[in-house]
Amino acid sequence: FNFTYKPLRNAEGKVYAILHAAIDVTKQVQLQQQKDEFLGIASHELKTPVTSIKAYAQVLERMIRIEGDEKKANMVQKMDFQLNRLTGLIRDLLDVTKIQSGKMTFSPVKFDFDLHIKEIVDEMQHITSQHYINADLNSSSVVYADKERIGQVVTNFLSNAIKYSTDAENIDVKSFLKDNEVILSVQDYGIGISKESQHLVFEQFYRVGGNLQHTYPGLGLGLYISAEIVKNEGGRIWVESEEGKGSTFYFALKI
Ligand code: ADP
Repeated sequence: FNFTYKPLRNAEGKVYAILHAAIDVTKQVQLQQQKDEFLGIASHELKTPVTSIKAYAQVLERMIRIEGDEKKANMVQKMDFQLNRLTGLIRDLLDVTKIQSGKMTFSPVKFDFDLHIKEIVDEMQHITSQHYINADLNSSSVVYADKERIGQVVTNFLSNAIKYSTDAENIDVKSFLKDNEVILSVQDYGIGISKESQHLVFEQFYRVGGNLQHTYPGLGLGLYISAEIVKNEGGRIWVESEEGKGSTFYFALKI
């Protein structure tokens, strides 16, 4: 039940009665739960066929490259890029349902931070021919965290850097140690984010406003999920940006 009350006043402003209301929210809560459950099941069901198509596309690309037909191979590479986007969207939807039901799990392991970042940079470089991703990795650290989830944050930063800097060529990735933290930054030279919006980008469903929504597709979930992951690992996440000049996204983990 949701309880509310409201004092009723006469012409002089004196309270002559108090109106109490108890609203039965059982139905609303049930509907919300059903919606969350549906979203969870739907994204899970979508994941399996898409993963399978993606695996076939990758094999196909390799086979065509061996045969030497670059044009066809590039078409399949484009399919792979779009399938990556689709997989990412499905994973984001699944993750949001996990966060909301408190079921997001973390399995920490020890791993070489710079090595893992390098792997992700190479993967992302493979799917963009328009950008050059410079990696200056100097943390020389072994961290204890969920490796996959940290990779997911880096992938989110990089795919945003690619998406929001279509006119720029370079993206700079850096890792370094400062005090007791290992810090990762992804800098792009794209559209940037206004001062007023910077604190909103980590919120669920927050998206660029106005016409830009059509230019840059997305669900507005990647940074929200990234923030949840970093917070869960006991770290910090933030952005520095100037409109029209570009953005630098950071996260820091204690070591
Ligand atoms: P999405 O990209 O799907 O909209 P995100 O949660 O990843 O969702 O980002 C939220 C919003 O933050 C974006 O819609 C965009 O307005 C802004 N944003 C994120 N990364 C960048 C970036 N590198 N440059 C400019 N704006 C960005």
